[in-house]
Amino acid sequence: MKIDCKHVWEHISAYIDGEVDAALRADIDKHLETCEICSAVLDSTRNVVVLMADDRVFELPAGYSERLHARLDRELDLKDPG
Ligand SMILES: [Zn+2]
Repeated sequence: MKIDCKHVWEHISAYIDGEVDAALRADIDKHLETCEICSAVLDSTRNVVVLMADDRVFELPAGYSERLHARLDRELDLKDPG
């Protein structure tokens, strides 16, 4: 089965947590091999999940990636006033 980027993003937190089934995992792996965008999303999501998982485990709600990117943009602006 061929899946698109949105499909990958929907499942990416479960993918990182190892909670997707084997077939979906294989589809996502295949997609990530060829899609730079999703590889970047995976990297940034993984970093955030690791940070958040420091003490506690957070459930990331659907649509978090848009909010996450908006928030990262805002935070980068705050930290880098130049
Ligand atoms: Zn993609």
